[in-house]
This record gives sequence, structure tokens and C-alpha cells, in this order.
Amino acid sequence: METKDGLQNQEQGANGLEDGKWALSRRMFAGAAALAGAGLFGSAAVAQTREELLKGRTGNSAGDPGPENKTLLGENPNSNHPPFTDHGDPGTIWYSFDLTPKRIQGGGWTHQVTQRELPTSTDLAGVNMRLTAGSFRELHWHLADEWAIMLTGKARVSLMQLDGKMAINDVEAGDLWYFPAGLPHSIQGLEGDGCEFLLVFNQGLFSEADTFLLSEFLAHTPPEIVQKNMGWSRQAFDKLPATQLYIFEAPLPGPLDDDKRFLGERLATETKYTFKMASMPPTQKTAGGEVRIVDSANFPIAKDIASAMVTIKPGGLREMHWHPNVSEWQYWIKGKGRMTVASNGANARTMDFNANDVGFVPRMAGHSIENTGTEDIVFLEMFKAPRYEDISLNQWISLMPDKMAEAHLKLPASTIRKAPQSNYDVLPK
Ligand code: MN
Ligand code: MN
Repeated sequence: METKDGLQNQEQGANGLEDGKWALSRRMFAGAAALAGAGLFGSAAVAQTREELLKGRTGNSAGDPGPENKTLLGENPNSNHPPFTDHGDPGTIWYSFDLTPKRIQGGGWTHQVTQRELPTSTDLAGVNMRLTAGSFRELHWHLADEWAIMLTGKARVSLMQLDGKMAINDVEAGDLWYFPAGLPHSIQGLEGDGCEFLLVFNQGLFSEADTFLLSEFLAHTPPEIVQKNMGWSRQAFDKLPATQLYIFEAPLPGPLDDDKRFLGERLATETKYTFKMASMPPTQKTAGGEVRIVDSANFPIAKDIASAMVTIKPGGLREMHWHPNVSEWQYWIKGKGRMTVASNGANARTMDFNANDVGFVPRMAGHSIENTGTEDIVFLEMFKAPRYEDISLNQWISLMPDKMAEAHLKLPASTIRKAPQSNYDVLPK
């Protein structure tokens, strides 16, 4: 018999990749012919049957006697050893802030998960930032809208509106803010241990390293223009920061009321840029968990980023569903779970998620999240859209007349109707 590897290598070397593929399929054909002769045709691993998929997961077949990163495997059992239902590749659905480098400065740090790290996420990008007590994220503006949630501590945020009035407010863990693109704003850590927060931008390729900064506008305008514009002397110009501040330490501010008094009639009061998400009553609550939805319906300034904060109790399930309007970008605040994403073309992937991980679901792909840990999961579903929209698989099935449902599911109606009959978001255990 010919040596298989010898033949393949020789033909690849002589004829290139296309011919190599042809050589491979010819070799497999020869192998299949030999098996057919031995009465074993049909067990070739070209298209695995469900039986074969299950058999491969038993006994020694799934053993891994070579090197393993046991720490990584311990946190990601499904990502490495997928359920037999996984198939093909729906694209990247996982990344973690804990893999991304922090830019660390006196006063705090920042790091990001954008389309560069998670190429499938073209709608949204995320930034995780920490400011110590008193420290500022330098006054700035940018091309994208900014949605934010406080994760720990307290901060003071300000924004100047188009009408020349300034909004200023203090936020604490579980509070949101939303700053439309182009409007200049500030973030300052407050007393105690400052704060940490998550920012979400409606641009997949947003970069926190590429915002418009107060320091750089001034440092890169000729001094005589600055003198004409502000009336500041050349000596004053030389004292301005020559390079960006970005994140820096500063004294703690006084009480919020003092800042509001300073603004007087120039204090913006009509539009709300902040929102208490974690302490709002749940939009939907079951024995298995809770969902809080915040979008332009209850937070009108959030015109292009919708959100849901989902709590899943141990054993609970964020039900099988999809979003008809846009893709979903997730941030995991706490807990441990696994998500299965089933997309068109029979592409499906199951991966594990832990705190500080980012999840992604392609637009309209079916998905579900199971709590596999011992504490509550809390995670955010984020959408580049004015409104939150979802479709529940159970609700749809409940609306199918018996004959329609039986014809598709190949089950008797008596079994089919045991499924929940509504859109529950999080199913009871
Ligand atoms: Mn910003
Ligand atoms: Mn979802």
C-alpha cells in the first residue's frame, strides 16, 4: 500500500494547495473503498451521526494525555469540550477584559474590548475604567455615544449641552449615564475608594485612546490664537499641559450642591443624563431571576443604546430567544454560566462565561444562558438600538396550532404544551 502521508505531501509540494485538497479527498475515497470492502462503510468521520458524536464523548476518546492549561480549562469546560450539539462556527462569541492590557496612570487605569479584540462585534465596543478618589478622566468628547454603568464606588459626571447649560450629577454603583456623541463631559472619582465603571460605545472600532481632549486642543493651537481666543498671555500658554492628561489625580470636589449653585441658571435640569438602573423595579421577575430593561422608552436620552440587566439564580435559565433588530454585546458582572449560540447554517457554539467576560451574539442568532455556578449571575445585554426587542421561542411555540406544532416538532401536542406558554425572559428552575 502507498504511504498516505508520503503521497499527500508529495502532491501538495508539486501542485499546491488545491491539488493537495484533491489528493486528500482521493486518499479518503481510497480509505472509504477499503472500509466498504470490509463491510464497515458508513463509519467514516466525514459527516458524524448523533450516535458517533455521543460515542466520541465516552471512554478514552475524549481523554487528553498531552499538555493542558488546567487553570484555563477549569474555568472553561464547555468552551474546550463542547456539547455534542455544537457544530461549525458562528464566529467569536467570547472575550475577557482580563486578557486586555491596562493603561495605568497616577489616578487609575483603563482597558477595552473592541472590534479589534472581538472582530464579530461591529456595533458596540466596551471600556472598563477605574478612577481613584478625586481623580479625573480628563474633559473630552468623542465620535460615539457613551452609555455607562457604575460597577463600584461613586463618581461625579458633567456634560455641557448644545444650549450652553451644564448637567452635573453624582452616580453610584448600579447607576447609568448616557452622553451623546460630541458633547464634552467629565468623570471624577469621589470620596472613599473612587470608582470603577463600564463604558459602552455605539461604534465597534471605538478606541479610548482616540478621544478629543481639552489638553490637546489647547496644546496644538498656536499661542497667539489662544491669546486672542481666551485673553491668556504667552506665559499662561506655557503653563498649560503640553501633552495629554488623560487620567490624573486631583483634589476631591466640594458638595454637589455647591457646583449646582455655581452654575445657577446655567444648570441643565430638563434632560436626564443619569438613571438608577439597579434599584429600579424589575421589568420582569420569575422564580428563576429578574430582568431590568432600560432603553429610550424609560430613559429618553439613550437614543441609540438599549440595555437589559439580567439576574439568573443558580439552576435558572435565560430562555431560548433571539433579538430581531441587532446583535447583542454582553458584559458579565458576576456569576458563572454557559451560553449556547445557534446561528443559521447549523453553526452553533457553547462557551463558559465568568465575571469581567464579554459575550457576543450575532444578530437574530438563537441563544440561551444557563447558570452553572452556585451564586446569582448578573450580566448586561447591550444593543445598538433605540429599543430593546426579543422573541421567545416558547412563546412562539405556544401560538402554533396543534397540527402545525406536531408536524414540525414530531411530538404529540400533549408533550408540546408542557413547555412554558409565555415570554418569561428567565425561566423558573
Ligand atoms: Mn467619554
Ligand atoms: Mn439575548
